[in-house]
Amino acid sequence: MTETKKSDQKKSFRNNKPRSYNKNRNRNHSNKKNKKRSRWNANRISEHFMKRDFDSRKKDCDECSSSLRISLGLVGVIEAIRAKLNKRIEIVTGYYCPDCKRSKYGIRRDFHNNGVAADIRVEGMDIIDLFHHVEQYDEIKGIGINFDDQHVHIDTRKEDQRETWVEKNEEWIQLTEENRAEYIPENISHDTADTKTNPTV
Ligand SMILES: [Zn+2]
Ligand SMILES: [Zn+2]
Repeated sequence: MTETKKSDQKKSFRNNKPRSYNKNRNRNHSNKKNKKRSRWNANRISEHFMKRDFDSRKKDCDECSSSLRISLGLVGVIEAIRAKLNKRIEIVTGYYCPDCKRSKYGIRRDFHNNGVAADIRVEGMDIIDLFHHVEQYDEIKGIGINFDDQHVHIDTRKEDQRETWVEKNEEWIQLTEENRAEYIPENISHDTADTKTNPTV
């Protein structure tokens, strides 16, 4: 994930708005190419993800029916995780507005509402391993491991301090230095995520 790539993605996302050539009735030889390209832009948010992958809105929500919010920084970090693990990432939950879905576990702020959060799973990978893996990305400022639904929440909120937590038995528990070992067994080595996942491919 490079800076230039990020800005390119941003650019293409912005350009999703109907462009002048779409209104152009002059369907000449280059039309096919343009059409294909605009379709790519309309549905795709990055190389491996479609906008709908991040769309967890309720179908009949009046509040957010026209506004799907997805942070390209978040998408970028998920692409980076995908590339590093060389595995498909399942987006369990992406964006929803407060009307679509009420925050579970009584959390104060739901970063899914801002479009900077995703709950993810990786096929064949333990969520504790995934938790350890995503900790390596500095831009991920919120990490929650959910044992009830077997996913890891990540978000790219604009904060300096990282917050980590556990969701278990319908409870939200902030991780501290004191209680962390209770829920998250220490990684045997820092490279565990890499060495462990590759041989199983
Ligand atoms: Zn909504
Ligand atoms: Zn979440």
